[in-house]
Amino acid sequence: MVDVGCLMLATMNPELQKQHEDMVAYEMIQNLKEIYEGQARHERSQEGESSRSITFGIYAIDVKLLASTSWVLDTIYKISTKRLKTNDSNQTYLWHCRLDHISERRISKLHKDGLLDPFVFEQMDGCESCLLGKMTKALFNGKGKRASDLLGLIHSDVCGPMNTQARGGFHYFITFTDDFSRYGYIYFMCHKSKVLEKFKEFRNEVQNQHGKSIKALRSDRGGEYLSHEFDELLKECGIVSLLTPPGTPQWNGVSKRINRTLLDMVRSMMSHSDLPISFWGHALETTAFTLNRVPSKSVQKTPHEMWTGKRPSMSFMKIWGYKAYVKHQMSTKLEPKSHKCTFVGYPKETKGHYFYNHKENKLFVARTGVFLEKDFISSEEDHRNIELEEVQQQQDTEPEVERFSQTIEENLTDLETRPLRRSTRERHEPERYGFLVTTHGDVILVNHDEPKTSRSSVGSRL
Ligand SMILES: [Zn+2]
Repeated sequence: MVDVGCLMLATMNPELQKQHEDMVAYEMIQNLKEIYEGQARHERSQEGESSRSITFGIYAIDVKLLASTSWVLDTIYKISTKRLKTNDSNQTYLWHCRLDHISERRISKLHKDGLLDPFVFEQMDGCESCLLGKMTKALFNGKGKRASDLLGLIHSDVCGPMNTQARGGFHYFITFTDDFSRYGYIYFMCHKSKVLEKFKEFRNEVQNQHGKSIKALRSDRGGEYLSHEFDELLKECGIVSLLTPPGTPQWNGVSKRINRTLLDMVRSMMSHSDLPISFWGHALETTAFTLNRVPSKSVQKTPHEMWTGKRPSMSFMKIWGYKAYVKHQMSTKLEPKSHKCTFVGYPKETKGHYFYNHKENKLFVARTGVFLEKDFISSEEDHRNIELEEVQQQQDTEPEVERFSQTIEENLTDLETRPLRRSTRERHEPERYGFLVTTHGDVILVNHDEPKTSRSSVGSRL
């Protein structure tokens, strides 16, 4: 094993070595990033695009922290443009894109189970969108006893306000995930105060569908779940409220993980599309739709199959955010005309696809279109860095009054999610630092703690 700082120094010319010899690996990377960015800007203005010395591609460095101060190189590699290009004809990569950037492992499972159209499975090369999309840190690993039946336990969490408003004026979303099947629902909200309303909507739909009642609801202590009305409703319905203890959001691990997964996938999907960021709501809905149709570590069958009893159909699934020619019956004209539109989702009520017509700024549903999939895969357009984040807010303050549900919680340890214990193994997971040098010579630094980005995406943790 080589010290990563030493290795980086060894690859530098004497002048750079001098500048960096007193720095730790992370500082070096930060500094190099600044240098490269400056250089790229300079070269662009001086000599134009053709003669720049920085090669387009993804660079990734995995390092392990051995003791508190010593970093050790795990792997260092460049995922070159050439390697990315080989994905052109890679069916695994095509499904990776169609299924909103889920992991190769999950695609392999779907392939083995015969849920995808037949093709020869092969490993895919790195995905630039994923490297850009999954820049988030520290997942919660709380594991608990699982519910033994549908609606036995529902996990819920509110996410928002987001830094960008979604089309429709939404700043928040709330997820409800069935613990047994991992089938998930997503609702958008303009304000947190809509939580109760959305919960009622969810409860009515699922209870009616399954002829069963929700037994328990796990949420964090966000004020939205602590309102008197919410508490009253839960009591009235005989739903046990499992609140996370104060200051331990990781106890709400399943929901936190799901929201993180959803946003990571959304960023990956959006990084390769030219749609405005306000389409994140549509991307998010599509992701939830997809995740309900793919297996995870938590469930062997797909959530869809466990929830509905039917195997999901996947053949109509397309790459979110890509172009298609769609025949659209315009109200004012008798003859349908083909328009180049962008695919933005699957309607809930009917079979088909949602398309967005840029020219008219209109969304519409059509059964299908001529999808320009090949163009999308081989396009060398720049991947954007999508800045879609939850705005950090101050923690909601704890109510003074002891709540009835807290007493119940103590008696329900079999449903508890265990508190996160920091295992020694976890501390030895490699940190990942990545550079992305875009075709324009911009260098984006990616600080990534997911050791195997393209092989086991965050999506697999749902
Ligand atoms: Zn990807």
